[in-house]
Amino acid sequence: MTITDAGTDVVADVPKGLFIDGAWTDAASGRTFAVADPATGKVLCEIADAGPDDGRRALEAAVAAQEGWAATAPRARSEILRRAYEIILARTEELALLMTLEMGKPLDQARGEVAYAAEFFRWFSEEAVRIDGGYAPTPDGANRIVVMRQPVGPCLLITPWNFPLAMGTRKIGPAVAAGCTMVLKPAPQTPLSSLALAGILTEAGLPAGVLNVVTTTDAATVVEPLLRGGRVRKLSFTGSTAVGRILLAQCADTVVRTSMELGGNAPFIVFDDADLDVAVDGAMAAKMRNMGEACTAANRMFVHRSVADEFAARFAERMAGLTVGPGTEPGTDVGPLIDAAGRGKVEELVADAVRRDAKVLTGGTTPEGSGYFYPPTVLTDVARDSALMSTEIFGPVAAVTTFEDEDDVVRVANDTDWGLVGYVFTRDLDRAIRVSERLEVGMVGLNTGLVSNPAAPFGGVKQSGLGREGGRVGIEEFLEYKYLAVPVRAAK
Ligand code: NAP
Repeated sequence: MTITDAGTDVVADVPKGLFIDGAWTDAASGRTFAVADPATGKVLCEIADAGPDDGRRALEAAVAAQEGWAATAPRARSEILRRAYEIILARTEELALLMTLEMGKPLDQARGEVAYAAEFFRWFSEEAVRIDGGYAPTPDGANRIVVMRQPVGPCLLITPWNFPLAMGTRKIGPAVAAGCTMVLKPAPQTPLSSLALAGILTEAGLPAGVLNVVTTTDAATVVEPLLRGGRVRKLSFTGSTAVGRILLAQCADTVVRTSMELGGNAPFIVFDDADLDVAVDGAMAAKMRNMGEACTAANRMFVHRSVADEFAARFAERMAGLTVGPGTEPGTDVGPLIDAAGRGKVEELVADAVRRDAKVLTGGTTPEGSGYFYPPTVLTDVARDSALMSTEIFGPVAAVTTFEDEDDVVRVANDTDWGLVGYVFTRDLDRAIRVSERLEVGMVGLNTGLVSNPAAPFGGVKQSGLGREGGRVGIEEFLEYKYLAVPVRAAK
């Protein structure tokens, strides 16, 4: 496939409608909205802009399909996911280009996300046939307890723009495997990957109504009536903590079960005994994956005072060596940020830190021209009360501070409402275990800057979320327990 002319072909091939009950349709209002390339600001295409009636229709399709889908053999559900996995891999180049065009990440990273996204389908195709139950005598021996697990029912899945394909497959995979039907509402900045995914799952044999996709610029108006209507049994949300709170409140009235994958403020801790080569590699991964637009991004870097200068100098040199440009261009390491608001927030956070005497080792200046580019930036001497220490940066900016001792760094690392992930670099095994246990997070990267893996339970504590995605527990989020009480009488 040739990657020319801003990927005109690959965008043209993607459906542009709402996907409801197995058919592509226009929004009832006939409205559409534009999807733009953040590297150029150019409009890629127009897609359907759903309103509340469309959302209702999509949920009705999911509700109607639920009983039949739950009764479909686990092996059949598994094989659909497996076929979808294979189709995604076979289309890696097209899907990667589509993602780069709508979201901005460099093509190599987009290819990586395609593989990561596909892996959720493979993993959950394997989990679909391992849904088990239980059998036990009651303690008094009079009854038997038979435990079965059943799909929770029609789900609403809401995804963010930063991983357009993987955030979809991480929810659709376990829902399909468990026997749930669903309505997916992707982020309006990056709907094309989700629409492509609906096409792929249909090709893989997913029956009509099991997956419905509703694209909209008016999420609040479309989603609230669905959550309050009493027919959604589960909300799986990935996005900011602020929006997560609103949705949790909406779920409360009808007691909708929830999974919440929310924001982060990850501490990245480098002890004095760390292998600095490993720590710098880890920092590059934890900071620069997805241009820093990741919930797992290292947000606050704490480096032991005795190695801080060397670490910062080596890290800044690597950051300065990265090539910034459109993700479609060969050799690009850092694409544009998602939009003007995203870049504006990064600019403000850097300005605030500099006002509080942070030093800029590299970057820190917005380039001229079109596209929402921002250079890889390393700040040192960052005051602990700078806004970027308590705000999710969501950009290629690293804030390096120093610490003296273990207790102090653990205390400061935990001094946040978030608790998604922490990174620890040390060669001392006792310290590694001690600090990993003390960090108030759902995941720890120990001498690594990358924790995401479809086979691992991904998620956070505190205001970073509820529940886990991936791993053995990923499917549990979409299953209910039901128990049968069975008296067993003595033979007459
Ligand atoms: P966001 O603003 O919270 O939006 C996420 C999704 O929610 C979008 O589809 C958005 O659509 C929708 N939404 C917003 N308000 C809504 C409402 N009132 N009712 C229903 N839906 C609503 O987050 P984002 O900016 O797209 O993504 C970045 C955030 O996601 C960061 O905080 C990041 O840490 C987090 N994230 C977390 C994980 C994780 O696994 N923990 C993974 C990736 C990202 P609209 O844009 O149309 O409002």
